[in-house]
Amino acid sequence: MVDLQDAVKAIQNQQPLPDHAVAITFDDGYGNIYDNAWPLLKEFGYPFTVFIATDAIDQKYGDMLSWDQIREMHANGVTIANHSSDHAYLVRHPKRDDTWLANTRQNIEHAQTRLTDELGTDIPRWFAYPYGEFNDALRSLLNEMDYIGFAQHSGGLWHGTDMRSIPRFAAAGIYANTETLLVKLKSKPMPVDETLLPDMLTSEKKPQLTASLLETSDLSRALNCFVDGHWQDAGWQDDNHFTLTSSSELSDGRHRYNCTSQSRSGDFYYWFSKPWLIYPDQR
Ligand SMILES: [Zn+2]
Repeated sequence: MVDLQDAVKAIQNQQPLPDHAVAITFDDGYGNIYDNAWPLLKEFGYPFTVFIATDAIDQKYGDMLSWDQIREMHANGVTIANHSSDHAYLVRHPKRDDTWLANTRQNIEHAQTRLTDELGTDIPRWFAYPYGEFNDALRSLLNEMDYIGFAQHSGGLWHGTDMRSIPRFAAAGIYANTETLLVKLKSKPMPVDETLLPDMLTSEKKPQLTASLLETSDLSRALNCFVDGHWQDAGWQDDNHFTLTSSSELSDGRHRYNCTSQSRSGDFYYWFSKPWLIYPDQR
């Protein structure tokens, strides 16, 4: 188990991380983090991060953490970071123009100010996108604001990870299965060139993915790809490029293409996930 701040620094500085290094994060700031998770994590000595949507704390919503509880955890080494002010669907907006961009910036800055006012200045410039939804304009905004961005599609980190859309494996709800989670945690990121991936936000109902592999030596060519969990045939264009397109039209909202491939040793899987947000273009 590693501290996410150490892991992020290591990735940014191209430093190695221990094998199977795992960092734990929680989103939103529910009270059960304080009541149930923290005592257990403390017992094991596991560091963790909580991304807070600050309005819900300010407005004292029933099952959310209080500022006193957040302060106590923060004082004991828990990392607290930004999950927006209002947990809005930031990019589902009819007009993503300059006003939208300015309001989004204000949303992020307000949450950061609230965290800093309540907890002090050592709040990292990290932002977890509400619902894991982002687009290229929002990624650029984070870049401009000198934030790194955490998303909700699945996968591990490597030196090719886009620091404005860091993936995370879900471990709650339907994903709360220690057997399948262990397989995921033992996986390695598929070395896909993330700079060439299309925007998460699209109006296409059958979004087209072309993935370009940067390092290919240990990767078996037998891909297993899924569209929202349904198996879908992927095609190799050449040794380093494969394509995947949903065979059926996808509904408006979030979707995922996932591909895995076994290492040649057969010891672990390479894992790749591409999130989509399908939203009609109204401009
Ligand atoms: Zn959330």
